[in-house]
Amino acid sequence: MRYHETLYSEWGQNFEQGQTLFEAETGHQHLIIFDNPRFGHVMALDGVIQTTEADEFVYHEMMVHVPMNTHLNPKHILIIGGGDGGILREVLKHNSVESVTQVEIDRAVIDICVEYFPNHSKGAFNDPRLNLVINDGAAFIANNRKIFDIIITDSTDPIGPGEVLFESEFYRGCADALAKDGILVTQNGVPFMQGDEVTSTYRCWKPYFKTRSFYLTPVPTYVGGSMALGFASKSEIAKPSRAKLEKRAKGIRELRYYSPEVHLGAFGLPRFIQSLMVD
Ligand code: SAM
Repeated sequence: MRYHETLYSEWGQNFEQGQTLFEAETGHQHLIIFDNPRFGHVMALDGVIQTTEADEFVYHEMMVHVPMNTHLNPKHILIIGGGDGGILREVLKHNSVESVTQVEIDRAVIDICVEYFPNHSKGAFNDPRLNLVINDGAAFIANNRKIFDIIITDSTDPIGPGEVLFESEFYRGCADALAKDGILVTQNGVPFMQGDEVTSTYRCWKPYFKTRSFYLTPVPTYVGGSMALGFASKSEIAKPSRAKLEKRAKGIRELRYYSPEVHLGAFGLPRFIQSLMVD
């Protein structure tokens, strides 16, 4: 049996689908988890691959340690989405973190991922620094009054429940919720296939952020080439020195992808992606 991803009608990937471990309509989205000989447990939401046991470390390390190691002293973190727990696991590796607020719309994703992807969260959902909120991230940010140093939007693609997290209104709320030197990072699609998402985010960010950039990371099961991760701040964020990143990285355990040279290199954007960053 084969599992066919349905993100793109004209092209896609398919997996040998071993045992189907879980499948249900959660009330927000269709959730399936199946086993694959190469990638281990694989999760898809509404037909789109979200995470696998084999390659999750690439995405979660790059989404978290680039902003966290750039910021001088990240204490208060907001995660939007991230129901599989990988982002939370990596955030909690930073000793500077005093509080993490995670806003996930679908409780079922958390519960099922704790069961079928135990190494994603690794107990992170039990950490006393966590304030877990089950809500739409856009609704949360619209009523939020807290100030955060880092906001990480680990959402699905801009289809279904994730759509509101790619709109100007949400980004305005993120800007209001960020400290002056705070950093916003977003899951921003695979530019070769979803280049319009880079352009749209770049334009939406213009009224709110002085720093508007992207960095790249190649996640094997996010097909179409490297994924763009959005990087924004109300301040001009200077490129951190290699020495500073070396020092910060030394304090993070169990890294399998992130390194200072990968961090700095990730901001080197090919011309076709630079050409998408137009107002
Ligand atoms: N790494 C994946 C990617 O790059 O596509 C994302 C994985 S994570 C499972 C995506 C999470 O976003 C899911 O748990 C989903 O329930 C959550 N989500 C989608 N829309 C949301 C919203 N409006 N507010 C909060 N969480 C949302």
